[in-house]
Amino acid sequence: MKKTVFTAAILFVALVLIVVTRTFLFTLPPIPAAQPSDLKIDPEKTASCLSKALTFKTVSHQDPNQFDNEPFISFHRYLEKTFPLIHAALQKETINSLSLLYTWKGTDTTLKPILLYAHQDVVPVAPGTEKEWDHPPYDGIVSDGFIWGRGALDDKSSMVGILEAVEYLLQNGFQPRRSLLLAFGHDEEVSGTRGAHGIAELLASRNIQLEFILDEGAVIVKDVVPGVTVPIALIGIAEKGYVSLELSVKTTGGHSSMPPEHTAIGILSKAITIIEENPFPATLKYSAQFFEHVGPKMPFARKMIFANMWLFNPLVKKILSGSPELNAGIRTTAAATLFNGGVKENVLPTQASAVINFRILPGETVSSTIEYIRKIIGNPDIQIKPIGPGNDPSRIEDTRSKSYEMIQNTIYSLFSHQEMVVAPFLVLAATDSHHFAALTNNTYRFSPIVYHPEDLKRPHGTNERISVGDYVNTVRFYYEFIRRFDTL
Ligand SMILES: [Zn+2]
Repeated sequence: MKKTVFTAAILFVALVLIVVTRTFLFTLPPIPAAQPSDLKIDPEKTASCLSKALTFKTVSHQDPNQFDNEPFISFHRYLEKTFPLIHAALQKETINSLSLLYTWKGTDTTLKPILLYAHQDVVPVAPGTEKEWDHPPYDGIVSDGFIWGRGALDDKSSMVGILEAVEYLLQNGFQPRRSLLLAFGHDEEVSGTRGAHGIAELLASRNIQLEFILDEGAVIVKDVVPGVTVPIALIGIAEKGYVSLELSVKTTGGHSSMPPEHTAIGILSKAITIIEENPFPATLKYSAQFFEHVGPKMPFARKMIFANMWLFNPLVKKILSGSPELNAGIRTTAAATLFNGGVKENVLPTQASAVINFRILPGETVSSTIEYIRKIIGNPDIQIKPIGPGNDPSRIEDTRSKSYEMIQNTIYSLFSHQEMVVAPFLVLAATDSHHFAALTNNTYRFSPIVYHPEDLKRPHGTNERISVGDYVNTVRFYYEFIRRFDTL
């Protein structure tokens, strides 16, 4: 007995030693020395260019017949006037009436081109929320150090920022060795089937393979990850898949004075409860790299946990499951977004339907998601039908690639004055970049905009705005990135 207690004590001490040693060794490699950017930018003039771009109501619609082309066409005219050097030196093509592709031919045509992508369209302002905006969403107001309006974050700051950077490069006499493509879709917010997809088809028809594509989808976050006080620049190396499923059930109706045990609404509600109570299995596989970079910046107790994921795996899953933002990074999520049923308060419903939106983790697919839902509901009376084809999750890009390193080093050069962590990230929302998947092995997502917790709801929400400083950084980022990438 004594011997067993002794052995257990030795094992416990050994375990503690391993855990503590691993915690002390859990550090980040030194940050490469970075040359700060010497580009001179006039913040007022630059902010004014973006603020005017926000006055064009380039709202996209699912139904092409409802699409109002006019604001897009006026926006294009505005771009021609604002960026004269680009419109003189680059080749411009219009795809499916509204999407834009600019080609800046490099001097070495044996090199694969790079593509910088952003979208022109914005989501509408939710009816009834206009009055909640501190400044009207389409007035292009610059006030209190911010540029206000729909599209300030998503995604006109990227689009106009790319053009502004290229205009500066032309002004400064830069001539790329490697061809540079600038592509701006017009229907990203409604799945990009005409815009990004059309551009990708055109490039494929010309047999163009891309060295690299950079899109929106990941930003710099501050005070968003509990315990981490330094800003974290997230580089999106993959994105989740997407599908919405319509669940419906039909029953015989009748008088509500003699109801069956479950009405159509009751049957469907039970199915939704089952989905909510049986979340998809969690895996840390796709957030492990993120925590390898961010964990060393955490307070000691948390750092110990993330340095020893082999031991604390169940605990980590439990901690992450408690936060909607972090939970979304470790499993496929389900959100019941629409519910419909019944016609009158004293009539039994003959049918009920609901829509559940799924964001699919890499490793799973649209069809495995449908299979999982069918199995857990286990009720053949409930019809399950996907709305549209959905997207499988993207490929996961390599964090050891030259492209990743180049984005990382450009970020360090911009923020060389402050401590910052750069971390690979699984993008939770869907972007247009999946349309280009066949054209390159290097798709990354990043915008150098700093989001505090209260900013996470601004894109697609009320009071969308970007600080003038962040916008100037956005221009500087693209400028430096294009120059650096060209030396590869
Ligand atoms: Zn967007």
